[in-house]
Amino acid sequence: MQGWMLIILIMLSCRIVGIVLRRFKAGGIILVLLSKLMWLFLLGILGSLIGNDALALFHYFFLLIFLSTPLSVFIQSLYQLVGDTYVKISHKNKLPAMETYVQKGSYILPFTGKWTVFNGGVNDNLLHGGSVSQKYAYDFIIANDEGKSFEGNGRSVQNYFCYGKEVIAPADGTVVKVRRKSKDTFVDGVAAYCDSLDLRGNYIVIKHHDKEYSLIAHLAPNSIKVNVGDSVKQSERIAICGNTGNTSEPHIHFQLQTGKSFFLSAGLPIAFTDVVAQDKENYSLMDKRPCADNLKVVGNNSYIGRGLEVENTVKLTLYTSI
Ligand SMILES: [Zn+2]
Repeated sequence: MQGWMLIILIMLSCRIVGIVLRRFKAGGIILVLLSKLMWLFLLGILGSLIGNDALALFHYFFLLIFLSTPLSVFIQSLYQLVGDTYVKISHKNKLPAMETYVQKGSYILPFTGKWTVFNGGVNDNLLHGGSVSQKYAYDFIIANDEGKSFEGNGRSVQNYFCYGKEVIAPADGTVVKVRRKSKDTFVDGVAAYCDSLDLRGNYIVIKHHDKEYSLIAHLAPNSIKVNVGDSVKQSERIAICGNTGNTSEPHIHFQLQTGKSFFLSAGLPIAFTDVVAQDKENYSLMDKRPCADNLKVVGNNSYIGRGLEVENTVKLTLYTSI
């Protein structure tokens, strides 16, 4: 068999095994362990370097990445690598930072009620991680005071408190990009998967100001109420929280970026206006990573971070576009 045919065969097998395995109760844990074996591909590199053909076969372990990742999303990860290099060079390696960035717009949280910051912040120990555009991104969930974000066994998106909740526009602007083709990713309460061709799943990009755009991702299927070209008002209902794209559970991914492109923009720190924030009860039961220094208040603006429960303080007048 030709080498490339073997690669395609293993890739497809991994996808099928991955999709089937996570339907079973212990499957998620087995998948996580199998995925870790991917790193044995480094032995393959060593084998190539020292000319040991048997050791070089370990290259194939890299294909275990496809247990939980479709090829399209793997390709997007490569885009991110290339895009990040471009963004760093074009900013002369001086990316926007909280201390220096002067925000043009005034942003509220893109939801109503109390939500928990599950990922993200402005300090190095809190940053969301991922590509350059996601540097200051946030993942928001709804958790109870026992530190749980779902009821039942967590194997259905409907089990999660935030699933189906309204998403609102964080500020006035014009919709410049929308994706609405994704179905919800299967959730098992164990690991992140992606059942979409796009790691963002269904998403909306809104232009608020020159070089200030917001991206809201993982929106529910058939929930997006706006189209490209539409003007939106702050607090307008624009979609519903879902679990599309590359996710571990239903949540809202929200980020501010310098351009329309997810891959070619720098992430911007976000000072939220009119926000009340407090430490989330029993947050450490969900995430043991320390989250000190997760709130900075500057006048009426707040830089929030992981471990906080946050809410808009102003009484919002919700809009629904027709
Ligand atoms: Zn995220």
